[in-house]
Amino acid sequence: MLEFDNMSNFSLQLRQKLRKHATMGSAEPVLHQQSRDGTIKFLLALSDQHTVETVILPYEIGDSVCLSTQVGCRMGCAFCASGLPGLIRNLTSGEIALQLLVAKRLLQEENRKLKSMVLMGTGEPLDNFDATVTFLEAVSDQERLGMSLRHVTLSTCGLVPKILELAKTGWPLNLAVSLHASNNELRNRIMPINKKYPLEKLLVACDQYASLTGRRVTYEYILIDGLNDEPRFAKELAGLLKGRLCHVNLIPFNAVSELNFRPSPQEKVKLFKKILTDAGVNVTVRRRLGDDIAAACGQLRNKYRGERNKG
Ligand code: SAH
Repeated sequence: MLEFDNMSNFSLQLRQKLRKHATMGSAEPVLHQQSRDGTIKFLLALSDQHTVETVILPYEIGDSVCLSTQVGCRMGCAFCASGLPGLIRNLTSGEIALQLLVAKRLLQEENRKLKSMVLMGTGEPLDNFDATVTFLEAVSDQERLGMSLRHVTLSTCGLVPKILELAKTGWPLNLAVSLHASNNELRNRIMPINKKYPLEKLLVACDQYASLTGRRVTYEYILIDGLNDEPRFAKELAGLLKGRLCHVNLIPFNAVSELNFRPSPQEKVKLFKKILTDAGVNVTVRRRLGDDIAAACGQLRNKYRGERNKG
């Protein structure tokens, strides 16, 4: 059991001080799954019994951990499992850090080493701006979590004023933007945030981010069958990104049982990629990981809640 009183490498005085002034989050996963490919997913129970989902992804260059920033999400993207329950609450910076610490411990037990981190789990990090920034400060501080922000990526659905605020820090933090559509008409339909911050405003904010931080922006584009995967959308996207310091990450859609979308067939993914490459856009296709344990982000948590509610 993790308790201040058991921390015998601290002085008695310090332990008493900690007991008085500090709290300690739960550090034991309530659910832990490991895939054949090395992907690990775990759920942490928070002090109020909400749960938060974290994923460790094995890549050739080293392991990466995907952290959540909120319990649920209020952005309402049509294809996403995380937003189905709506926003329940923000995570504190400590709760975000706890996911990282538990991931590090699990990796250590397997002699694996953490190389990078993405804020790409449940929630919209820029909708929980203060806790996210406090967490990132702790990450980059050698005395605390001690990890270079060059190895950290924050993913957002596009909260323009917050992207600009983040750019002003000048941190070498990588920015990923969930684009998923090449025009406002389609993006409005699948991502409600686009009505507030349309593509032209979003792209200008991203350009500013790239120029102030010197980091190229990654645009994420999920390919959903018959919705946004037609060749004309690839051409439109190429036109939109031409001349920008950026990279496109095509994401095979992860089926969500509650939603009626299907992943694009392989041939369409290939063609979409080719059109972008031929137009001079830097593009990769995200490798699928952890297929045998639980699909899209937010699904493990939804599954756990569903099963608990049955009991
Ligand atoms: N709110 C942030 C971060 C969380 S979502 C954001 O929007 O970027 C992390 C990534 O997973 C986003 O690119 C999101 O669009 C994508 N995603 C959501 N549901 C998905 C699904 N069913 N299949 C594949 N990717 C999905």
